[in-house]
Amino acid sequence: MISGTCESSRRIVVLALVDALGWKCIEGHHFLEETLPHRRPLTTVLGYSSAAIPTLLTGRTPADHGHWNLFYYDPEGSPFRWLAPLRFLPDALIDNRVSRKIIKELGRRVLGLGPSFECNLSPKILPRFNYAEPRDILAPGGINFGPSILDELVAKDVAYRVYSYRQLTDAEIFERAARDITAGTASFFLLYLSELDAFLHMHCTQREELVKRLRWYEERLNWVFQAARSADPEAILAVTSDHGMTPVQRHFDLAQKIAGLHLKMPADYLAVYDSTMARFWFFSKRAGNSIRACLSDRSCGQILTDDELRRLGVQFQDRRYGELVFLLRPGWLFSRSDFNGSAWRPRGMHGYDPADPFSDAIFLSNRPPLVPMRTIADIHPWLHSAIGLAPTASPRSEFDERFAEAGSH
Ligand SMILES: [Zn+2]
Repeated sequence: MISGTCESSRRIVVLALVDALGWKCIEGHHFLEETLPHRRPLTTVLGYSSAAIPTLLTGRTPADHGHWNLFYYDPEGSPFRWLAPLRFLPDALIDNRVSRKIIKELGRRVLGLGPSFECNLSPKILPRFNYAEPRDILAPGGINFGPSILDELVAKDVAYRVYSYRQLTDAEIFERAARDITAGTASFFLLYLSELDAFLHMHCTQREELVKRLRWYEERLNWVFQAARSADPEAILAVTSDHGMTPVQRHFDLAQKIAGLHLKMPADYLAVYDSTMARFWFFSKRAGNSIRACLSDRSCGQILTDDELRRLGVQFQDRRYGELVFLLRPGWLFSRSDFNGSAWRPRGMHGYDPADPFSDAIFLSNRPPLVPMRTIADIHPWLHSAIGLAPTASPRSEFDERFAEAGSH
């Protein structure tokens, strides 16, 4: 739990951020309908929670706050440079279960990459990459470029509490938050509830299971909200999410297709296979040409153009997140990726084009929002209005407007 300094008699604001609770998941379930009657879907950003949560906390795009996918190309700044001399060892010696576990533990305990760091990439190519989340994104100073709402709360001396998986389970978060609200220890409470994501990956298409799980969250959110209302009858309560969950229908083994081109990694190219997108960097013309040709006639997905990357707010000038990005169409999944082995067969996935309706996040609140709510980036100005902070000086850019337009329902 992270806390800010204490001050007295402010309006209580409670925001529950429920990972992966999409608009389509709650549709038809009357989830918290009586408590939170002001409701609408929010367009997410292209990417995973690693991109969406910083956007929600800053109101800015991944290209602006610097967080998109977890690994980015940075051979000079890589915290794994010390692994480079080992690249001459045979594959089986450098890349196996034990070596990945050792690197994971070193990453968490020695390199300071946090308790959720996983060695997803082969140690053979890891020295070329940096990790995009070196600090807790839910703490002040956690965002790579610029402040988040938490930095602003510290600057304005607003007392707050943040609860997350780093210290507590979802069940413990509800208990601790209700207790702290009753004790009057702060005025803003952010509950990051992360456990529904794993559940929805496996059960998003199983209605009975979903109903049971939604009831569990509904009951506990109502406890917390009752505690807030007892402490402050005018309390502002809201539930939001970072993205939705799209049912998986078809699989494609892109890693195998690329391996079949007989190019050498890392001499010719580098590839990172996220769950729904593949990102490439090229070091030979032949590699660029043959990988482009291999990807361009695929019906399962598409190469994102520069215009699309810009419109989606994920165009980085230095191409740190990929010289070429191939995105799967909604409902497709790589048979295996750096983030899931072939044995894992989820029924749901996220990380598709934000225009996919299953990708929509949610915004539910007990009061009508005082700012337009169209995308998850609008959570940031909503927090400003709810907590009573002065609006930020930066006006909406042309990009923000197009991003919002793309998501208008
Ligand atoms: Zn997930």
